[in-house]
Amino acid sequence: MTRSRRENIKPRRLVRSGLPVLLALGAGLMGAGCGAGSRPARGATVAARTASFTVSAPRSRPRIAVHPRSSRPRVTVHPRSSRSTDATKPLAGETVVVDPGHNGHNYLYPSIINRLVPAGRGRVKPCNTTGTSTDGGYPEAAFNWDVALRLRALLLAQGARVVLTRHSNTGVGPCVNVRAAIGNAARADAVIAIHADGGPPDGRGFQVIYAPDLGATARTYAASLRLARAVNHGLRASGVLPPSTYVGHDGYSVRDDLAGLNLSTRPAIFVELGNMRNSTDAAIQISPQMRERLAKALDAGLKQFLVASVAHLR
Ligand SMILES: [Zn+2]
Repeated sequence: MTRSRRENIKPRRLVRSGLPVLLALGAGLMGAGCGAGSRPARGATVAARTASFTVSAPRSRPRIAVHPRSSRPRVTVHPRSSRSTDATKPLAGETVVVDPGHNGHNYLYPSIINRLVPAGRGRVKPCNTTGTSTDGGYPEAAFNWDVALRLRALLLAQGARVVLTRHSNTGVGPCVNVRAAIGNAARADAVIAIHADGGPPDGRGFQVIYAPDLGATARTYAASLRLARAVNHGLRASGVLPPSTYVGHDGYSVRDDLAGLNLSTRPAIFVELGNMRNSTDAAIQISPQMRERLAKALDAGLKQFLVASVAHLR
């Protein structure tokens, strides 16, 4: 993978200002599938804040009937069509956790985001990272947040329950392990983490990232792969961005180092919606109209996955 190469990309802001690369390293390396864009902390004495997150209780909506007297328990999964009779709300009864990567003020709290947390597969990673940015200074965290809000609006309009992993773009965190826990606690039918990459300047395009069929992710692998395929199809069909030209293939990447995937007990993917270091992709990312089209592409993929699925983890 090109992860180590992308980790070493120096944020343009730091290069221009002449600050040592060590500062970038100290401010939190890449942790969530993106470039290691980092900004020097402003206001070093700013008091640390701890973001709080509320996850509503999971639905009590039994859909799996187990018949105990058979020699082998039979599991009956009710068709998805039984869940919603309102054609205008095709996603009624579905829970989608939308995880906008990073947070707009992470750079103010290096001591918080550099703290090591469990990342799954026996590894630890920094709590969170600052994310990357376009050469023009549009931060990835702001892009992720904007696309997440647009996606949430689309999903809510179709009756879905939507849980965000953060509630603003002016806070810090939460840590990557907490983001995964939010999806698990919400008993999400689908989890999608939204990012944009900081790749080589000549590389373009989107990636849909899923975890390998290994260890803790084995139980969610099949569903996560279906989710990845549906969202990949949605993004391709939109024509906004090409599949990545520099990492993975056909717009897919398989990664075993992402806490958000390793620690998820629900179907989960990450998306990297273009390369912020590429001028063509960046021009798309800074456009509100294009961000809306990207959100619609994600929505189309999620809907295809949610409506088509009849067997779910519970
Ligand atoms: Zn990111």
